Amino acid sequence: MAANSGRPAIGVDLGGTKIAAALISRTGRILDREHADTTAADGPGPVIDRVFAAIDAILARTGLRPSDTAGICVAEAGPIDMNAGVVTTSPNLPGWDAVPLRSIVKEKYAVPSFLINDAKAAAIGEYRFGAGRGAGNLLCVMLGTGIGVGIIINGHLYVGKSGAAGEAGHTTIDVHGPRCACGNVGCWELFASGTAVEKETSRRLASGQASSLTQLAATGITVTARHVAEAARNGDALALGVISWSAHYIGTGLVNLANTFNPEVMVIGGGLSKTGDLLLGPAAALVRQRAFPIVSQAVRIVPTTLGDDAGVLGAAAFAFRNGKL
Ligand SMILES: [Zn+2]
Repeated sequence: MAANSGRPAIGVDLGGTKIAAALISRTGRILDREHADTTAADGPGPVIDRVFAAIDAILARTGLRPSDTAGICVAEAGPIDMNAGVVTTSPNLPGWDAVPLRSIVKEKYAVPSFLINDAKAAAIGEYRFGAGRGAGNLLCVMLGTGIGVGIIINGHLYVGKSGAAGEAGHTTIDVHGPRCACGNVGCWELFASGTAVEKETSRRLASGQASSLTQLAATGITVTARHVAEAARNGDALALGVISWSAHYIGTGLVNLANTFNPEVMVIGGGLSKTGDLLLGPAAALVRQRAFPIVSQAVRIVPTTLGDDAGVLGAAAFAFRNGKL
């Protein structure tokens, strides 16, 4: 073990649109990185080949053999059977059904291999190297295509019985709300994710509300949460309305999490968090208004400091700890 202590690890963030792989030192320095498009519609085989190609590119450039690393960890969205190392199903990766990704990686590279949910990886990343460094009780709330939460309790990652803890995006926030693809009703992520912002924006545009986004939508470009954030920053009333609508739901969910976990830090990451203060300000204010004072006074609500690198950094940290944290 001691002989391996200086070896870097490879962290991979396998997302629905992008694959990011990075070679990372024990102190959290990114030594080399590689990106690829996921092209998820191709299904598991070709996507796994692209993950391998990204890892191979890093190894080739740095002149390392797989055995020169401490291991490889892949972070992936959606519930993962952590005991078996299996992607059970993935909302962003069509066709992935019980894929034993951990053993597939291990067979290819013959190094310690690990598989972890992306929000859990981000939580480890923020805890070890980022905004939550040293905070033993930390939640990392990832507002992306969906919502995932990584939970650190007393310095340990909480994964639950089968590894699926943290799927807070699929807790009900509106009992009269629409049915979610997961089967539940009125799920948090139907109101507080990047996807929710995009859908609500389309709905308001279709109803004829004036907006600077109307022209963009008319050209056939898909209006993304990033466009909405930009329009909101420029004072567009429709965009500001959608962000404020979503901030209210984000805040409501954060109140639930704060009262449940009494965390020291809640790190807010994921694509939608890039909207910044316009979104996170009102959400944090709601926590201060509605959570128990003993809870709201204890918690810091902060944006991610690792940004898009939280996943690869946390995955590498998980490999350094031999899959235990
Ligand atoms: Zn759901």
